Amino acid sequence: MNPQPTPVSTPDGFAANYQDARAAWLEAVLLRGGRLDGLRHPGTGPDGQALWQDIALFGDPHATQVLLIACGTHGIEGHASTAVALVHAVNPWGFAHWQRGTENNVDLNRNFLAFPALPAPNAGYAELHPCLMLPSWNEGEIANAFAAMDAFRERMGEQAFSDAFNGGRYLHADGLFYGGDRPEWSNLALRELLARHLDAARHAVFVDLHTGIGPYGQPFMINLDAPGTYGREVARTVWGDEALSGKGSTHVALATFRGLLLEAFEHAMPQCHVSSVAVEFGTRERRRMQRAHLANAWMRRQTRESDELRRARQEYREAFIPSDPDWRASVLREGVALCQRGRDALVAATVVPG
Ligand SMILES: [Zn+2]
Repeated sequence: MNPQPTPVSTPDGFAANYQDARAAWLEAVLLRGGRLDGLRHPGTGPDGQALWQDIALFGDPHATQVLLIACGTHGIEGHASTAVALVHAVNPWGFAHWQRGTENNVDLNRNFLAFPALPAPNAGYAELHPCLMLPSWNEGEIANAFAAMDAFRERMGEQAFSDAFNGGRYLHADGLFYGGDRPEWSNLALRELLARHLDAARHAVFVDLHTGIGPYGQPFMINLDAPGTYGREVARTVWGDEALSGKGSTHVALATFRGLLLEAFEHAMPQCHVSSVAVEFGTRERRRMQRAHLANAWMRRQTRESDELRRARQEYREAFIPSDPDWRASVLREGVALCQRGRDALVAATVVPG
């Protein structure tokens, strides 16, 4: 695997859209002799183009150890994929439509649950929901939403606020961070591709790439395995203590997550020991990101183009894929270094327990 970033259609290494990103990625995979497979999404992109969840495989097809790097779980964040990416556009609809969620407004990273059973309702979110569904995108409405959020935080504390705002919820299908009521196409497709191609794997290091949380342009890692488990110990060996410490988080308290994509392996490959990390490349401070999530929920309810919509869309894109060349250069540099670390650890077989 050659870890050098491939130049794509823009000088900063970031493709202009999903279609260009996919074309550059496919070309890079083929140049390096990767084997390709993919599943076609039933929907289409903004200009009617086909959407795919793609997988590229390098090395022994019967390998018992695997490094898997996925991007685009939160569609729009897929633009930060770097030179070594094995699953391209887990959520291709969101990638192509510049949205975090899927075609059904589902946050894929809350969707890996044992449906049809649903977790208990998120009471905090239910309380906030009416305040977060802005009637229009203007500063007055946005300030009202923040006043309600701040009042909730003051009354309930930071952890309860994070759980209410960012934690999963399985009612309010038009709301923020909605986890769905069934497995999304992207969820089933990922499990299908993992089962099809990584059946022989017994030890896996899994990296799910995101943007949004953490120091600007720098990687922030989240490993959610319990202390003393295989997943946590391997994460410490491969990535160091920073994968476990929460250092650099832009959240005072991370939400209690459910149904994360990191759990895909448990469903698809129960025979495989997995150490998973979500890697976030930080963009904006948390209030700016909260604004972006409010914008997204509002945008999804609009049926007509308007200046308001264009403004909201621009703000949303900047929140997840800053156009700042320094941010982009940093993400490419750090992303490549990270992939090399994962690969080196795998080559050194440090991930296999003695
Ligand atoms: Zn994300």
